[in-house]
Amino acid sequence: MFSWGRSEGGYSRANGFHVILEKRKMNTMTMACCLKYLLITVFWWIFSLSCTQAAQPLPLSDKTQAEGSEGLSSPLKKYDSYNAKEYFYEVPKAWEIQFHRVMNNLSQLLGGYDIDIVAWPSWRAPPIVHGKRLEGGQYVSGGHGGGGKRRVMLVLEIVQDELIQEHPHMRSVMAHEYFHVYQRHVNPSIEEAFSVKWLIEGSAAVFESMYLRDFEQVDDYAETAQLRHAVPDDFGARMESYGNGDVNYGTSTAMVLLACREGGFQRMLDFWKRQPNNTNWKQLFEELFHVSVEQLYREGQHVSPKTLDLSRMGNLRQMRF
Ligand SMILES: [Zn+2]
Repeated sequence: MFSWGRSEGGYSRANGFHVILEKRKMNTMTMACCLKYLLITVFWWIFSLSCTQAAQPLPLSDKTQAEGSEGLSSPLKKYDSYNAKEYFYEVPKAWEIQFHRVMNNLSQLLGGYDIDIVAWPSWRAPPIVHGKRLEGGQYVSGGHGGGGKRRVMLVLEIVQDELIQEHPHMRSVMAHEYFHVYQRHVNPSIEEAFSVKWLIEGSAAVFESMYLRDFEQVDDYAETAQLRHAVPDDFGARMESYGNGDVNYGTSTAMVLLACREGGFQRMLDFWKRQPNNTNWKQLFEELFHVSVEQLYREGQHVSPKTLDLSRMGNLRQMRF
């Protein structure tokens, strides 16, 4: 059970204090700075001294590449179990317990990867890792490890009120970002040569909702946090670019649900395994989904998001990743 009312806006990250900032590559995140922020920061500081968690609203962000200036030299190697190097800075114990539980589930599904995972609570400044101060938010990026070695970095800024309220987004964002890591494993083109937003983000968004449903007993996240933001009129080529304002990836989620309506989410996984890039993706899509991208776009403009849900996607425990 969650202590807040869904009627007040459900699990939306775009509601209340939370504002999703669509970002890509070198876009700069603008941090909210206001009296409320200062007050809450002071309260957090006071509460943290007495070992109590406090709430702190900050804009969230998600992006698949923060730096993107160089490609990875080789695909991410997959291991049998969780294999990340953790850079945790003052993370609350309650978050860390949830994190390791969720990552254990995700590693069993998606595999383990030799990546860096950086986490810190949002009341403190983003840390300096490998000699560089990170941008705030939640995202996967390239980065430089020791000796200039290229490393994939999963960044999780911990939002305090999500922790306090046991908000499902605190767990689903781990699933969403780890799916981006998996995408890089199966398709290294995502680093530089594949950038279709609705497929990249819609796949991660559907995965995160399926994760909540299949592992966390949260059944309505897609409906309450994602699809409520879907705009059927936006179905189409404009969703291929990161430059649109797809709130909480609602339209991207709807497009992936529509594409997978017959074959389930397994078909999307199979698509990723075929390693789409910006040149071949439409052809690969038609081969896998038996409909052209243009046909899907046309169909989507006449479909109500309410008719799209997770029920046709299958169960994550039965997927071939
Ligand atoms: Zn994402």
